[in-house]
Amino acid sequence: MKTAHFEFSLSLRPLLARDRRDGVVDLCFDGPQTAKHLIESLGIPHTEIGELRANGEVAGLGYLVHDGDRLEVQAVKRAGNNEHEPRFVLDGHLGRLASHLRMLGLDCLYDRASTDEQLAQVSAEEGRILLTRDRRLLMRKIVTQGTLLRSLDSNEQLHEVVQRYELWQWVKPFQRCLRCNHPLEMVSKEAVIERLEPLTKRYFDEFRLCPACDQVYWKGSHYERMLEVIARVAGNKLQENIPKVSS
Ligand SMILES: [Zn+2]
Repeated sequence: MKTAHFEFSLSLRPLLARDRRDGVVDLCFDGPQTAKHLIESLGIPHTEIGELRANGEVAGLGYLVHDGDRLEVQAVKRAGNNEHEPRFVLDGHLGRLASHLRMLGLDCLYDRASTDEQLAQVSAEEGRILLTRDRRLLMRKIVTQGTLLRSLDSNEQLHEVVQRYELWQWVKPFQRCLRCNHPLEMVSKEAVIERLEPLTKRYFDEFRLCPACDQVYWKGSHYERMLEVIARVAGNKLQENIPKVSS
């Protein structure tokens, strides 16, 4: 039997078993084991691990742990990328978060009926970041990009994702269908006028249409609410990017 000494950074500690939440763990194990495997056995998916040091030296997740090793594990920090707009796939419990992210214009696959198998597959094949509260799902080998959401509240979840992927640089509100994720197209008022309520007809002139599910959008009360959500989660940084509502 071998023993390794682990020290976990503050934000990873809540993921450990209750009696280990001081973040210091002496773990006994048999045979050759990677750092990834041992850390996951303690309840922390590999997607949440940032810098890892073994006996003071930077190491990868595939590092083979030796008897007496001292491992320091940091949480993943910002994962934003200035070159590629992040795309997401969400597990079936995150409908509200999917809708919030689509409000920001982000590409989010969401289907309540998706199985874990399908979610992992889509994430791997399409390079989509898998968002979930299910640690087991993130521990699957093929999942390389993912985030374990800590909160149960959809506004806080949005905040977690915005922070981690620095999403303020990608916000394009009013561009994506909240129901089906398809990009919206501009449409003339005449083309949709028969479907509008009298007050909408009177007060709004700019409309968009989802070519996939035929939903019509205008900058009415939904849009105001959307701006409120954005302002609440991202503060000034995000607001600078957002066009003012035309009145
Ligand atoms: Zn649609």
